[in-house]
Amino acid sequence: MKYPAIQNYCNGQFVPATGKEVLPVISPVDGTLLSTVPLSTAADLDKAVAAAKAAFPAWSRMPIKERVQVFFRYKTLLEKHLDELAQLCTEENGKTYAESVAEIEKCIELTEFATSLPQLVTGEVLEVSKGVECRTEHTPLGVVASIVPFNFPAMVPNWTIPNAIALGNCMIIKPSEKVPLSCGRLAELLKEAGLPDGVFNIVHGDTAIVEAICDHPGIEAVSFVGSTKVAKIVYKRATSNYKRCLALGGAKNHLMVLPDAQPAMTAQNVAASMSGCAGQRCMAASAMVAVGNVDHIIEKICEEARKVVPGKNLGAVINKQSQERIERYISEAEQQGAKILVDGRNAKVAGKENGTYVGPTVIDHVTPDMAVAREEIFGPVISIMRTATVDEALAIENANPYGNAASVFTQNGGMARYIIERASAGMIGVNVGVPVPREPFSFGGWNESKFGVGDITGKSSIEFWTKLKKSTTKWNPEAGVNWMS
Ligand code: NAD
Repeated sequence: MKYPAIQNYCNGQFVPATGKEVLPVISPVDGTLLSTVPLSTAADLDKAVAAAKAAFPAWSRMPIKERVQVFFRYKTLLEKHLDELAQLCTEENGKTYAESVAEIEKCIELTEFATSLPQLVTGEVLEVSKGVECRTEHTPLGVVASIVPFNFPAMVPNWTIPNAIALGNCMIIKPSEKVPLSCGRLAELLKEAGLPDGVFNIVHGDTAIVEAICDHPGIEAVSFVGSTKVAKIVYKRATSNYKRCLALGGAKNHLMVLPDAQPAMTAQNVAASMSGCAGQRCMAASAMVAVGNVDHIIEKICEEARKVVPGKNLGAVINKQSQERIERYISEAEQQGAKILVDGRNAKVAGKENGTYVGPTVIDHVTPDMAVAREEIFGPVISIMRTATVDEALAIENANPYGNAASVFTQNGGMARYIIERASAGMIGVNVGVPVPREPFSFGGWNESKFGVGDITGKSSIEFWTKLKKSTTKWNPEAGVNWMS
C-alpha cells in the first residue's frame, strides 16, 4: 500500500474512524493499491459535528475581513504545492497530470474569489422613515456539509470549502470513497493557513454516512455534487429533515454543429470536450447534433480524436466497472445500427496493464431513442445525431432530462442567440466546448442536473451559505410612534 490507511479529520487532527470496515483505494492509472478508506459510523459523524459546533461561535464572530486572511494564505499554499497536489489528483483519479494541474489552478481561482467576499457581502442599510433604519446582514448558517463526487478530487471540494467557510460556517466534508486522498491534503493546508481547529472536518464513508448527514439535527445545510440518482435521494432526504439543500446531478450535454461552423476550431473543441478528463466531466460533450451537411467537420473531429491517446494525453476512467459500462454502451449502439467511426474499446497502455482505459470514441448515425443518445455515459464517447434543421436539433436537446450545458458552433451571431434563448440548459457555450463560467460567474445547471435554488459557486453561493438578518433601529426613541417605524 503506497500511503498509510486514511483517517477522518476532526477538530484539527487525523483520527481513526470507529467503524472497522474499510474499502481499498486503487489508482486507475495502473491498479496500484494506494490506501484504504474507512466507512465511518454515525458516532464518527457526531464527533465531527460536535467539533464544528464548538468552533462555530468564535469563527462566525470573527469579522469576515479577518476570516478571509486564512484563504489568502491557503491560496499561496495551493500555489506552492501545486505540483504535489496535481500528482496526488492524478494518482487517485486517473486524469492526466496536465488536467490535474488545471484542476488545482481552478482551486486557486475559486479561493481567490472567496478572498473577495468581504467586498460582496456588505449588506444594505436605508433610513426608512425619519430616524429609523432598516439594515440587512448576511449571517452564517452554522455547521454545513458538503458531499462530493470522484471526478474532481480537489476542485469540487473547493467549490464549497472557501466560500462556505469564509462566510463564517463550519464544515463537514464527505469525500468520494473512490478519491479520498486529496481532501486530507487540503485539510493540512487549511490548518497551515491558520484555520482554527474544528472549522473544517472530514468524515469518510459511502451511502450510510451520506444518509446520516442528511438526518443529522446538528447540520443546517447540505450541498451535494454527484449523479442525478443520488442528488434526488439527498435532496429529498435533507429537505424532508428541514435542511437547506443544493444538489447538483449528472448531465448529458449537447453540442449543436451548424454547417457554417469554423471546421478546425470546432473539431478541436468537440474532441477536447468529449475526451478531456476521459469524458468524466459533468460539462463534457456527450451528444452532438449535426445540423445539415457537416460531414467535413465530422471527418476532422475523427482526426482530432485519433490524436488523443490513452496513457499519453488521455487519462484512465475511474475503475473497471466504469470501463466495462462505457464499452457496453458502445457495443449496444453498434448492435442497434450506429456507426463507430473511432473505436476506443479494448484500449491498453503498455506497462499499465492494470489501469482502466477507454480510448476516444466517435459514434455516428445515432438515433435519439438509443441509450448512447439519452443517458450519461461518463466516458470519452460522443454520439452524433443528424438533423435537417436547427429546430429539430433544439427539440432533441430540449427533450433530454438533464440541463447542465449546451453549446453551438456557428459563425452566425443571430443563430447563436436563437439557440442561447431556446436551449434548456444552465450553461451555454457559443464556439466553446466546455462552457464553465469562470469566477465571479456562478456554476449550476437546470432540470435534472440541479435540485434546489441558486448556484454552487460565485456570487450565487452567498445566498446558499448565509441567511439574511434584517434589523430595524430607531435612532430617535423620543419621536412619536409612526405605524411604519
Ligand atoms: P455518485 O452520485 O455515485 O456519488 C457522489 C457522492 O454520493 C459520493 O460521495 C458517494 O459516496 C455518495 N453516494 C453514492 N451513492 C449513494 C447513495 N445511494 N446514497 C447516498 N450517497 C451516495 O457520483 P460519482 O460517480 O462520484 O460522480 C459522477 C457523477 O457526478 C456524474 O453523474 C457527474 O455528472 C456528476 N457530477 C455533476 C457535477 C455538476 O456540477 N452537476 C459535477 C461533478 C460531477
